[in-house]
Order: sequence, then structure tokens, then C-alpha cells
Amino acid sequence: MAIKSFHPPQRILMGPGPSDVSPRVLGAMARPTLGHLDPLFVNMMDEMKELLKYAFQTQNDLTMPISAPGSAGMETCFVNLVEPGDKVIVCQNGVFGGRMKENVERCGGIAVMVQDDWGRAVDPQKLEDALKANLDTKVVAFVHAETSTGAISDAKTLVAIAHKYGCLTIVDAVTSLTGSPLKVDEWEIDAIYSGTQKCLSCTPGLSPVSFSARALEKIKNRKSKVQSWFMDLNLVMGYWGGATKRAYHHTAPINALYGLHESLVILQEEGLENSWARHHRNHLALRAGLEAMGLKFVVPEGERLPQLNALTIPEGVDDAAVRNALLNEYQLEIGAGLGVMAGKVWRIGLMGHASNQRNILLCLAALDDILGRFKAPVKNGVAVAAAQKVFAG
Ligand SMILES: *Cc1c(COP(=O)(O)O)cnc(C)c1O
Repeated sequence: MAIKSFHPPQRILMGPGPSDVSPRVLGAMARPTLGHLDPLFVNMMDEMKELLKYAFQTQNDLTMPISAPGSAGMETCFVNLVEPGDKVIVCQNGVFGGRMKENVERCGGIAVMVQDDWGRAVDPQKLEDALKANLDTKVVAFVHAETSTGAISDAKTLVAIAHKYGCLTIVDAVTSLTGSPLKVDEWEIDAIYSGTQKCLSCTPGLSPVSFSARALEKIKNRKSKVQSWFMDLNLVMGYWGGATKRAYHHTAPINALYGLHESLVILQEEGLENSWARHHRNHLALRAGLEAMGLKFVVPEGERLPQLNALTIPEGVDDAAVRNALLNEYQLEIGAGLGVMAGKVWRIGLMGHASNQRNILLCLAALDDILGRFKAPVKNGVAVAAAQKVFAG
């Protein structure tokens, strides 16, 4: 048996993540591996922390990437901030809020769920009502950008309500970081996590996190040990920590970190505000094309994420057949529905490096062609021109 090297084709990734990775990031990852305590590597880690602080808009010292994907960033926040018996309010409006509940319960906490319709933002009034009814709540958690539905919630308002009731906040920013306005310090978010494979356009497998001084206080004064050895920030800080000498905790994913460093350098070159504006502008162009065809958004205007466009699949159209044709004929990946939305929606991502004019025009032309051939109830021949009109200003 002679298994050969694996050579994947060049796809265009316009799903819910991973998104297209910049060639500069892939190039950075192919550079020579250093030791994880090499002074040059430690220097790069310090730069990375500065770049992440910029991306998160924070001065938090405890800002770094966890060596595992977004779900591990989520788990890091919960295992460090939730002790057995702690009551945690989780606002759920999609798949990822359900994962938060799992985390609370596995930490021995008591999860109080505040449910909103999938496809809508979290309702601040419902959070306030739940806090009034549960004055012993310690932590409030919610997803800023629900990738499963394409809805964005008002993080600033939700955090302010949580603080009024003396709670710490855990915010999922896996899809929002660098794609939508997000200001950790100004909004006083206590614990936040993200992922590298969405709007950061890096490869999957790392999870940037940031913790406020308030959160750190709670972690340092825990009555019980953090249940996870790997994610215990008291230990992780020994490697990623400030001025003190770095000690071995685990072997950092050196080359993956080169990739994240490069993607953050690219962000710095573009400018954070410009990145937010680009995601917004490109969403408007894609939207014009999709709506010209007669396709309908799941999320009402004003609550839509620019980087994740969820559409209702038209009546009688075979979900998987369309996505397969896009993949096989156009090398274009879009996302299927998740959870209760499986088979009902498509999710078109415009994240990071993939959020550009060429991709939007290609995606619209490809959908126009394929939906036409599938005899879907859409208007053909108008989508590309509608998007071009937006690009022309
Ligand atoms: C993708 C995603 C996650 C999980 O990230 P992984 O890297 O897949 O573990 C969590 N929350 C949201 C909102 C996401 O979009």
C-alpha cells in the first residue's frame, strides 16, 4: 500500500467557517518551527498579545489564544468562572447557547435558560426579568453573533444589565470578532472568547480569549480548583503571563501561532474599523443580489449579521443537491442549516479574507445558474447586476 500525499483543491469557503485563509497566513505557517521557550518565539507571543488586545479593543493583560478551537475558548471561560452551585443565566437564541448550557452543567453550575426565537437577537428585557427572578445569579452568558441563525445581539446592553445585578459576563465572539463592532473595555465585558477560522481568516484550531480584572479576581479567589487542568488559567498564565519568566505548561502550537500572528498583522494593516466597514458593505451587496432573486433572509433587518447570511430555502428545492452543485461545479462551499434549521436554510458566510467582491459576484452568478437549472421559484438574470449596483455606490 502506498498512500500518497494529500492535495486538497482550492475551494472558496463561504460557509459558517472555516473561511478562506489568506495565502500570507499559510505562508507564515510554513516557516521554521522554533522551540516554545525560544526568546524569539516568546517575543512573538508578546506581539500577539498586543495584536489581540487591539482586535478585542481591550487593555486586559489576560488576553491570549487558547491552543484549541473556539469551543475550547468557550470551555475555558466556563470552567474558570463557574464553581459548583453557581447559578448562571444563559440567553439562548441558537445552537451555541445550548452548548453554553452544557458547559454550565458540566462545571456543576445551575443553568437558567432564557429562550429567544432562533433567528432573532437576544431580548434584553427577558434577561432583566430573569435576573429579577434569580437574584443569586453569578454569571450571565450569551452569544454575540449566532452563527447558526445569522443574528447579532446587543452585547453592550446585555452586559450593562448583567452588571446592574452584580453578575460577571461571558460573551461568545467567535463569529463577531473583527467582522462586527466589538469593544471589550468600553462595553465592560468580563470574559470573551473567539475563534481563528471565522473573520480572522486564519486556520481553525486556536481560540483568542480575554479576561477583565474583575474576572481575574474571581478566578484567583475560587473556593475549588478549576476542574480542567489544561484550561486552568492559573496555570496557563505561567506560560502566557506578563513580565515573569515563562514556564512550560503545554507545547504551544508554534506554527499555528505564526499563522494567527500574520492574520492579526493583516488586520492591523487594514484597520479594525475598516474591517467592520468592509464586512458591512459586502453584506449589502450580497443582500441586494439575493433579494433581487427573491430569496428571503431568516433574520429581520437590524438584527442581521453581515458576515453570516441565513436564507430560507425556496419551496421544493433540494438543499443538498444545490450545495453539492456549488461545490462540484464552482468549488464554492456554503453552509447548511444547523439544529432545528437543518434542511430549511442556507448560510452564506462573508467572513474575513472571503468577504470580497469577487466571491460575492461568483456566488450570486453560481446560485443564479444552479437555481435556474433546478427550476427554483426565483427570478433569474438579475442578481449580479443588483450587487454590482451596490459596489458602484
Ligand atoms: C464556530 C463557533 C463556535 C465553535 O467554534 P469551534 O472552533 O468550531 O470550536 C462557537 N460559537 C460560535 C458562535 C461559533 O460560530
